[in-house]
Amino acid sequence: RKYKREMNLRKKCHNELVRLKGNIRVLCRVRPICQEEAEAEGKSVVSFDSDDDAVLYLSNKGKLMAFDMDKVFPPQATQAEVFQEVQSLVTSCMDGYNVCIFAYGQTGSGKTYTMEGIPENPGINQRALRLLFSEVSEKMPDWHYTITVSMVEIYNETLRNLLGDNPSEKLDIKMCPDGSGQLYVPGLTEFTVESVEDINKVFELGHMNRATACTNLNEHSSRSHALLIVNVAGFNSSTGHRTSGKLNLVDLAGSERISKSGAEGSRLREAQCINKSLSALGDVINALRSRHSHVPFRNSRLTYLLQDSLSGESKTLMLVQVSPLDSNIIESVCSLKFAQRVRTVELGTASSSR
Ligand code: ADP
Repeated sequence: RKYKREMNLRKKCHNELVRLKGNIRVLCRVRPICQEEAEAEGKSVVSFDSDDDAVLYLSNKGKLMAFDMDKVFPPQATQAEVFQEVQSLVTSCMDGYNVCIFAYGQTGSGKTYTMEGIPENPGINQRALRLLFSEVSEKMPDWHYTITVSMVEIYNETLRNLLGDNPSEKLDIKMCPDGSGQLYVPGLTEFTVESVEDINKVFELGHMNRATACTNLNEHSSRSHALLIVNVAGFNSSTGHRTSGKLNLVDLAGSERISKSGAEGSRLREAQCINKSLSALGDVINALRSRHSHVPFRNSRLTYLLQDSLSGESKTLMLVQVSPLDSNIIESVCSLKFAQRVRTVELGTASSSR
């Protein structure tokens, strides 16, 4: 029975991967209106189609705009339902794929809720590691896996090693000297995790280090990108077969246009840096879409770091987060338009500039 279950699961994953191959899947999640917003009589401008869970409508100045996604999660969708949609992607890193899941949207749209979640209701990061542990134990004793995690923050185009002893030390991205085209970050701390307790410790340390060296954590995290990098190396003791995959889970900085008027000094630099890496991500997406021979991965730390998960045989999924409020409609339209462009990207056919 166990064999049959495994075969069915494999078949399901395989079909899913064939469907995903080469394309960026885009899921949209609309967060609920919170109590304060309801008390302030914030109005929702989003609506859904009960027969089609892949379309979202926005009512913009009396005009109804439709956005096609791979799937739309309404405000009542649970963390478990969202995770169910991404879990086959998560486990594909055990078969040696590079996977990237990134949350995009304006500050306050629910990116951190989706990726990190809250202690009583964890998000994708925690669920992904738990799932990997359970898959790893299912595959024993034939397969042995080593799972290591790193946490990186990109702030003002600077990489911080969130699990290191000295989180203010700046790190750089380098090309592996072995000619494999793989990138690595010298000095980046990697923790081997073997249990749920290990992950909790890692997340706690990452949070603590992220909070030190900044005065206002909320503001700081909305202006920086947080990456959880999970390396999964497998070894089959009877066949000698090895696999090596990577899962990047990314909570991006807020996508809102920061008003440049009035911003000076460090604030202006911050605004330029956030815009730089998000617009660099947009440029990479555009180059991949139009199959340019040159894809400008190196124009920002973010795109450079994600290069091997945004090209070739990698699997990428974007979660576009949307606030339902009419006061956020301009940003929602921008995010959803970007998401529509991302949906038409084919990674498999792209050649990357190295
Ligand atoms: P962002 O990371 O995009 O700035 P957050 O994840 O911090 O946004 O979300 C803003 C607020 O909305 C938080 O208080 C968060 O707990 C709440 N929130 C976001 N999404 C949901 C959801 N799906 N269900 C319940 N609360 C949510």
